[in-house]
Amino acid sequence: MKHKLSIFQSIQFKIPILFILMLIMALQLISANFIRQLENQTIENFESQLDLRYEFFKSNIESIVLSDQTQVKKEEAIYQVLQDSNTTDNVSITVIDRQGYILGTNDQTKQGSVGTKSTDLRVQQASLINSNVATYQYVDETHHNRQMRLIGPVGLGENRVPEAVIVIDGDVESQYDQVQSIALIFLNASLVAIAITMVVAILISRGITKPIADMYEQTEKISEGNYSGSVKIYGEDELGQLGEAINLLSVKIRDAQESSESERQRLDSVLRHMSDGVMATDRRGRIVIVNDAALDLLNCTEEDVLGESILEVLSFPKTHSFRILLANQEQKIITMNDSVIKCDFSVIQRDSGFISGLICVLSDITEQEKIEEERRSFVSNVSHELRTPLTSIRSYTEALRDGAWQDKDVAPEFLSVIQTETNRMIRMISDLLNLSRMDQEKMALEKEFVNMNDLFNHILNRFDQIIKDEAYRTRNYTIIRDFTQTDLWVEVDQDKITQVIDNILNNAIKYSPDGGQITCRLMETHDSILISISDQGMGVPRRAIPKLFDRFYRVDKARSRAMGGTGLGLAISKEVVELHGGKIWVVSAENEGSTFFVSLPYVPFEESGEFE
Ligand code: ADP
Repeated sequence: MKHKLSIFQSIQFKIPILFILMLIMALQLISANFIRQLENQTIENFESQLDLRYEFFKSNIESIVLSDQTQVKKEEAIYQVLQDSNTTDNVSITVIDRQGYILGTNDQTKQGSVGTKSTDLRVQQASLINSNVATYQYVDETHHNRQMRLIGPVGLGENRVPEAVIVIDGDVESQYDQVQSIALIFLNASLVAIAITMVVAILISRGITKPIADMYEQTEKISEGNYSGSVKIYGEDELGQLGEAINLLSVKIRDAQESSESERQRLDSVLRHMSDGVMATDRRGRIVIVNDAALDLLNCTEEDVLGESILEVLSFPKTHSFRILLANQEQKIITMNDSVIKCDFSVIQRDSGFISGLICVLSDITEQEKIEEERRSFVSNVSHELRTPLTSIRSYTEALRDGAWQDKDVAPEFLSVIQTETNRMIRMISDLLNLSRMDQEKMALEKEFVNMNDLFNHILNRFDQIIKDEAYRTRNYTIIRDFTQTDLWVEVDQDKITQVIDNILNNAIKYSPDGGQITCRLMETHDSILISISDQGMGVPRRAIPKLFDRFYRVDKARSRAMGGTGLGLAISKEVVELHGGKIWVVSAENEGSTFFVSLPYVPFEESGEFE
């Protein structure tokens, strides 16, 4: 906001006042000196004029005074001298003898006083004692004006006493009047000079203040963020240069502003599109910037976090202060809304070392943590699963070595256990290798169009034979087929899908200790085929269902192992089905039986038009 200056604060006022004050001071000094000198000079001139008169009359009157003539003769002679040299100017000359008698005067009105004694006391005294010329001023009491009087001796004898004195009175007042009128002219001239100076000073100060006011306005505009205008340049002086500098500054600030604005926008868009969450705080730890990814991770809105302490937002314990965070900048792992979040901190520090805030990058490592956890449990599972058969092989081989090999009854049984365990281990390792290949996506599917009805039927025929085996005959299994009439040609890897169906059927038999019906269905939906295999076995407890397809997961470890299971069958089946773009799931109730479903993508031939 522009602060309005009062007239007395303004340069426009100060400069003329300064000019005038300086001029008045200069005029004062000049006039005081000049008038004094003029006055002295005038008075000195007047005095020397009186002196000249005195010298003139002295030489003329001296001989008269010193002659032996009578008093009357002398008076006449003096009168003659005074008359001859009568001047028009206002000077009165009086000659007085030693006794104070007036010998003559040039004043016609005072001719009567000739021969009488002078009444002027100072003249009388001077005539008696003064042998030198004396000059002094006095005020004429009748006219009240200043007079200058010169008293000079005439006819000095040997005792330095004059015979007579000449008294010359001059009107010095007129001289003073003259000086005064000159002073008046000087004063008038000074006043005119002051007036002219004032006008000139106002013009000059306007010439200075106008560009300054323009520049002030422009800088105000710049500070308000308006860079459109420019300062008018009035001349090539310092103010002109300053104006040009302000114009250049305005352009530079605009450029800098624009580039910092575009930089900010770029940073904003980088922050917005970052998959990692980013938060920035001020130096007290209050959040000033937060991006959408961070808000998603923390499951809150911008209003919830802006201005809040980062420690509270990240739910750090109360013992953890912002100072500690700045000092350590350690990575922190926090759990929030079932997500595991990794927080990396870095301090925002200026070149001077001043810490102006903290940046926190939040990354969702939930998946990573899960994979890591799975990896750990997988390694422990594999070691455990391999150790169990190896331990039993070792104990059987030890028993054989200790002599059991000679026992014809026990030895074959021991060797058969060793063989079973070894087979199981080989199966497990080949299962693991399969899984590992699928994990690394190395396993290529050898897809071909297969008539699923035929394939499924073929597998079930094999199982029909298996359930007739001695081991299963007592339990009375029945395999029921419920197939769609339509031939379903599906593009699959025949061996792999056979493996999946084999596995589910094997489980159906394995986990149905009391035998029962095994119902196998084959259906089609508009875009997939659906295989389902239901048994009437022990079923799967509800809590176990989500984990059923995990590697090494078994509801009853002992039973599975006893059945020669590896705990990897369903995991492999799931991988295979998913590689085909299909799905596998289970619906089960404990002690009632289970139904396993496999759906595979399917495009009916009529629609594909391949055979048209
Ligand atoms: P396994 O080699 O142990 O059979 P699978 O991966 O094939 O491994 O099966 C995992 C577990 O799922 C089995 O140990 C079993 O507990 C359970 N299971 C699989 N099929 C059935 C089923 N039809 N009925 C009941 N439980 C089943």
